[in-house]
Amino acid sequence: MGNMTVQDIASQQYISDPAHLRRALDRVLPAVIKPGRYAGGEWNMARKDWEAAETRMAFLFPDVYEVGMSNLALRILHGLVNEDPRFLCERAFAPWPDMADKMRSAGIPLYALESFRPLRAFDVLGVTLQYELSYTNILNMLDLAGIPRRAARRDSGDEWPWLIAGGPGAFNPEPLAPFFDAFLLGDGEELLPAVLARIGADKKNGVPRAETLARLTELRGVYAPAFYTPSADERGVFQGWQAAAPAPPLVRKAVVADFNAAWFPARCIVPFNETVHDRIMLEVMRGCTRGCRFCQAGMLGRPLRERAPEVLRRQALESVRATGYEEISLVSLSTGDYSGVSHLLRDLTADMAGWSVNVSLPSLRPDSFDVELAAEIQKTRKSGLTFAPEAGTQRLRDVINKGVKDEDLFRAVAAAFDAGWNNIKLYYMIGLPTETEADLAGIAAQAEAALQTGRRRSGKARVTVSVSNFVPKPHTPFQWAAQDSRETLQAKQGYLRDKLRRTPIKLQYHDADMSAAEAILSRGDRRTAGLLEVLADKGARFDSWSEWFRPELWQEALRATELRAEYFTGARPWDAALPWDHLSAGVTKEYLRAEALKSERGERTEDCRLVCGACGACGDTA
Ligand code: SF4
Repeated sequence: MGNMTVQDIASQQYISDPAHLRRALDRVLPAVIKPGRYAGGEWNMARKDWEAAETRMAFLFPDVYEVGMSNLALRILHGLVNEDPRFLCERAFAPWPDMADKMRSAGIPLYALESFRPLRAFDVLGVTLQYELSYTNILNMLDLAGIPRRAARRDSGDEWPWLIAGGPGAFNPEPLAPFFDAFLLGDGEELLPAVLARIGADKKNGVPRAETLARLTELRGVYAPAFYTPSADERGVFQGWQAAAPAPPLVRKAVVADFNAAWFPARCIVPFNETVHDRIMLEVMRGCTRGCRFCQAGMLGRPLRERAPEVLRRQALESVRATGYEEISLVSLSTGDYSGVSHLLRDLTADMAGWSVNVSLPSLRPDSFDVELAAEIQKTRKSGLTFAPEAGTQRLRDVINKGVKDEDLFRAVAAAFDAGWNNIKLYYMIGLPTETEADLAGIAAQAEAALQTGRRRSGKARVTVSVSNFVPKPHTPFQWAAQDSRETLQAKQGYLRDKLRRTPIKLQYHDADMSAAEAILSRGDRRTAGLLEVLADKGARFDSWSEWFRPELWQEALRATELRAEYFTGARPWDAALPWDHLSAGVTKEYLRAEALKSERGERTEDCRLVCGACGACGDTA
């Protein structure tokens, strides 16, 4: 019983008798906020036979229930794994601080919502890495589950679950590398079942864990950090990775080629609690051809794959029948670019008429929004409408390759107000490479012009400006760029506040300290794993929530680990070896560098549906 924590001891008891955990929970839940987050039993929840499953997985979402249950990756992968008779998949979310504290003091280990089994009971824990500021929650969840953080401490036999992760964060997972056995790069629909089958079969055949890990590296898209050693020059500057066989020197992402055949979660779980997105998410396409130079999602998702309208209409009907949701959102990175989007909208609106279901679109590029589309959308219940010009001048929009013209924005805004919208939100980013005061002034001028466009049509017209801070991301043309300092970002936010002070335009902006923390992890290397551990030990959690983010802990942790934030937020030399060079999203480093050089010259790159830019993604799918 030496150094077993309360959770350790309790887990043993609860693993053998999950009902025991239910009883312990009954004593705790009445005293916490939104107990429904922890109770399970929702509509469409899968109840699979524990004993019959070859591989038992728990899907961990490192944020609160309402956010996790709105995540499309969770809906797809959790549903897909449960669809397979060999596997079972359950869910666990980061408990809100009040619940985490109660669990810790009551000795209740983190458990899965379907069977109330502690996470230690599972063969595999799969984590989705959607945003960097959720990483401290991952360590908190491991602590609460009584599972050692570092993979090296879990490799004794199969007492401990495998820890794997996927999502955009897997394309530079080095800050998390010591904590995970493997990362899954790219589309999970085919790769995840292959990984679970391998683990399940080897467990059954008593294959040693190390051998299983080696076999996993033979699957395209699997990155096992244990096989990669960083090399540095005599000054200690990172020079690249040494890969040990059988691991490939370059890990290439998994790509689902036939997107029409890709699994779709029609029977997704319908929570009792209100969630961030209480609606059906119909994924109309994956990838984007626009090539905005700050956008990581656009690069990681290439090549573009559209789903056929008839497939989407069938999925919509199946989903409405299975969930009773009253809204369908057509999701993708740029839904306005979906071929025949107006036709699809018209057909879906007609299909849904009998079900009184609303069809909506997420934020739209101004240059893909027109009167026709406005007419289709406004047939259903009108919520706000969001456009993303990103930068306030044509010069800077060309630098970031956004390709939207002023007249596109004003035509879209006019079409929206004409179609009866009163609420328009405009998305911008500040701190972009080459940004000047004129670009900031351009944001204010555009917003005021948009408001005037609205006010000429209705006195109720309102415009909100939402400004995020540029964070340089791996696998983008701006992966070498510097992030503005906290002081500079705050000064720019102050400039916009002054510019818009005497207007009725609402201004929203992001916390500069949070953006700096995000940038440290976004381009972090293995040394930043130590930073995360110190942060978790100091009590950092829910860092993506402004009410919980504590910048002083980050300063303390940076000092404790002798890391300089500027090293991670500053510019990188063109010839620098990057911590993610051994991981491929299909888009080549040469293409990214060429795009970065074009941005310095203010040169645009055409939408690659019109002209292929030879980024490499289309040739890297087989
Ligand atoms: S290879 Fe060409 S067409 Fe394919 S994603 Fe890249 S730029 Fe676009």
